Amino acid sequence: MVKANAYGSGSSEVSIALQRNKCDFLAVAVADEGAELRNEGITMPILVMNPEKHSFSLLFEHHLEPEIYSFELLESFIEEAERQGITDYPIHIKVDTGMHRLGFMPDEVDKLITLIKSQNSVKIRSIFSHLVGADNPQFDDFTRQQISVFKAYSDKLSDAFDHKILRHILNSPGIERFPEYQFDMVRLGIGHYGMSANGHKLRNVCSLKTTILQIKNVPADETVGYSRKGKLTRNSQTATIPVGYADGLNRKLGNGIGKVMINGKIAPIIGNVCMDCAMIDITGIDAKVGDSVEIFGDNMSIEKMAESIGTISYEILTGISKRVKRIYYQE
Ligand SMILES: *Cc1c(COP(=O)(O)O)cnc(C)c1O
Repeated sequence: MVKANAYGSGSSEVSIALQRNKCDFLAVAVADEGAELRNEGITMPILVMNPEKHSFSLLFEHHLEPEIYSFELLESFIEEAERQGITDYPIHIKVDTGMHRLGFMPDEVDKLITLIKSQNSVKIRSIFSHLVGADNPQFDDFTRQQISVFKAYSDKLSDAFDHKILRHILNSPGIERFPEYQFDMVRLGIGHYGMSANGHKLRNVCSLKTTILQIKNVPADETVGYSRKGKLTRNSQTATIPVGYADGLNRKLGNGIGKVMINGKIAPIIGNVCMDCAMIDITGIDAKVGDSVEIFGDNMSIEKMAESIGTISYEILTGISKRVKRIYYQE
């Protein structure tokens, strides 16, 4: 899964690495993301999960394979394919087994088979569904129920056609916790970016690092930052870093909620996070201008950071803005 700029890490670099390493399929959310990958030289199959009517031409032009989730979408896609004289265009059927986001309902399978058999513009390449709570043992019964509905639906669909139809249902937590249901493919997302839903120790993949711009000695009665929020109770030393909420450092991490690592020591963010900067309380830490600051990475867990502001690592990762330079290391 390389949607949302490969979870913020840079979709073309990640996709090129995946293509080189013989990954079979990529998936993106919208057609524009797929077109961008084609322009970067990605030739492997790309599934587009949220195709919209206005993007059909882009799909055909770049040979992007749509997820088809409703009869309305299917009919208009077939119509456009016919208009362009296209045959056997690969599509991916999404079944709603409990997420209730997108997908055909399980009782629509017969109608779907009839419709697909009545034309030759599109051909089903895969059938898939999405698990809602594979990370949580509390939902294991529901997960198994989703899988069993999926299995029945996909059996029926596969039996109706002569060619092989690929099946896939597992996301990252599903891959970790339900390996017996891999079917033909799995859809690895967050796990690829180093995070486990299951407490498995995956290797850290992404770090957000910056450097100290300026260090200040600030007396006890002063405040730091906007709205005088960073109240000092002691004579303090602060460090200013050039990362703010416009970079994806959530403003909720201000006022001691967020912490960073400087020279092996943990230091809290003091005061409100600014648009382009944040101030860190480094009292008692040996640091100088230019020293490296880890916001998340090998030492500072992105999951803990997410938890401290009531969100998930996905949102932190995908929220790192474009102006933050991505640097890649090849091993
Ligand atoms: C995003 C997404 C995934 C990957 O989810 P992770 O939890 O990141 O592994 C898989 N399938 C679908 C349909 C998705 O939208």
